[in-house]
Amino acid sequence: MSNTPREVSRHPNGHYSRQIRLPQVGEEGQSRLLASRALVVGMGGLGSPAAMYLATAGVGHVVISDYDRVEPSNLQRQIVHRAEDVGEPKALSARATLEALNPEVRITALDWQLDEAELAEQVGAADVVLDCSDNFPTRFALNEACVRTGTPLVFGAAIRLEGQLSTFLPAREGSPCYRCLYAGGSETAETCTQEGILAPVVGVIGTLQAVEAIKVLLDLGETLCGRLLLFDAIALEWQTVRLRKNPSCPVCAGSP
Ligand SMILES: [Zn+2]
Repeated sequence: MSNTPREVSRHPNGHYSRQIRLPQVGEEGQSRLLASRALVVGMGGLGSPAAMYLATAGVGHVVISDYDRVEPSNLQRQIVHRAEDVGEPKALSARATLEALNPEVRITALDWQLDEAELAEQVGAADVVLDCSDNFPTRFALNEACVRTGTPLVFGAAIRLEGQLSTFLPAREGSPCYRCLYAGGSETAETCTQEGILAPVVGVIGTLQAVEAIKVLLDLGETLCGRLLLFDAIALEWQTVRLRKNPSCPVCAGSP
């Protein structure tokens, strides 16, 4: 991780005690989280629970990016925002919630559309990136920046009553990237605006993105690298599909 671990016990009330109790985390793991930096792109339905759990779990620096403003139709599922936040920039509304949840962690809000250089800088500075966006241009740009800088990327998507999740570890040999999965670049994006979305479905996927991100930061267990997890809320079924690196991927072919 980027920094030397900080003292764990700055929270006098034992905020992290239940997490430290886990043998897989412990004092050392908690210190590692507190010294970590995560970039969450999109403060919508996925980014809300993802960023909230990263902040409460004690990821020391959470950088959030979104250039939209809160609309009434967001509040059904974008739980980091409040009714009184309608009209406010999402990044700023989310920052207020995250700071209230855990004043110890640092929250940086980026409330403008990042250009390529800014995106590369933010991705390069992060220990893990969470793609909680809702459009292909952002997803492709994030993926390219992650491949270029070797930064782990936790991808999530949800629409209607379905969700999907994967983790890409560009620094690991044989890891596919997001572009290996969606090769064309000409996909027509289905959107929640048109198709609809059941509120907690997006919460399930965003929450799992936080789980994966914490595992990546702690180098814990098996991530979804090389696997795509599919969630079907109607049947309440999970499916795992193998993902392979595309040897002629325009983004990651030739990298490790
Ligand atoms: Zn690829």
